[in-house]
Amino acid sequence: MINRLETAWETPSAGEVPSPDLVIQLDRIHKTYHLGDIEVHALRGISLGIRRGEFVAIMGPSGSGKSTMMNVIGCLDRPTKGHYLLEGADVSKVDKAGLADIRNKRIGFVFQSFNLVPRTSALENVELPMVYAGVPAAERSRRARAALAEVGLADRERSMPNQLSGGQQQRVAIARALVNNPSLILADEPTGALDTRTSIEVMEIFQRLNRDRNLTVIVVTHEQDIAQYANRIIQFRDGRLRRDFLVENRKSASDVLTQLLPEADGEDNDDFGDSK
Ligand code: ADP
Ligand code: MG
Repeated sequence: MINRLETAWETPSAGEVPSPDLVIQLDRIHKTYHLGDIEVHALRGISLGIRRGEFVAIMGPSGSGKSTMMNVIGCLDRPTKGHYLLEGADVSKVDKAGLADIRNKRIGFVFQSFNLVPRTSALENVELPMVYAGVPAAERSRRARAALAEVGLADRERSMPNQLSGGQQQRVAIARALVNNPSLILADEPTGALDTRTSIEVMEIFQRLNRDRNLTVIVVTHEQDIAQYANRIIQFRDGRLRRDFLVENRKSASDVLTQLLPEADGEDNDDFGDSK
């Protein structure tokens, strides 16, 4: 049983040879944290490949290594051991400034707590990654407006984060993640602070971006319901891949939202037993 689980990562996409189709290739990635004398093995040999246009949900209990893996993939943290190829390039050979550039241009981050800059308008928040990327002001504003429109917030450009609902703030964060045209969106528990309907609205945006732009999306979630919007689910346990499988009968968020509409004031399942 344990053997079967431990080897379950060997999907057809796993591999060590650079392939143009693979946005992410992880080869025996380890991450060990040192806390005084104690070693914490957050990742214990992760090998997997993610193809362009995949929509992956990462699941697993708290402490199983999901965020550590997202940090490695997002070039926020380096692995202790192993190789990571991002779009075919070995990231371990890139210096700090190079990593910052990769994060800015190729990866869009979305977090549970939105991480918007306070007292700064939605438009300016969305412009920020372009400021770092050196995009001229007129183009910044044009692209930020387009991104806000894409997430349904064309009329909230001037709003400050504290004037927006949680769902609206997360949509601003998604617009911000998009403006530099990344090849990859990384979202760590993006619906963790949102009610059910708003969570589905956020998943609808991710599904649309995934479909229309062929954007690769990786979402960490502990909610089975949310994972069903992905086309592949990867389960972690104790720093290892426990399961890696394709979603059968993947849910369409826009269909689910249409079905919710007629009884918007009826059934309210905001507090469905959310375990952690
Ligand atoms: P998850 O996101 O699945 O809840 P994490 O990746 O955050 O799990 O954590 C995996 C393990 O690594 C946990 O045991 C956690 O305590 C540990 N860990 C994560 N980040 C650090 C850190 N910066 N320093 C020390 N230990 C850490
Ligand atoms: Mg986490």
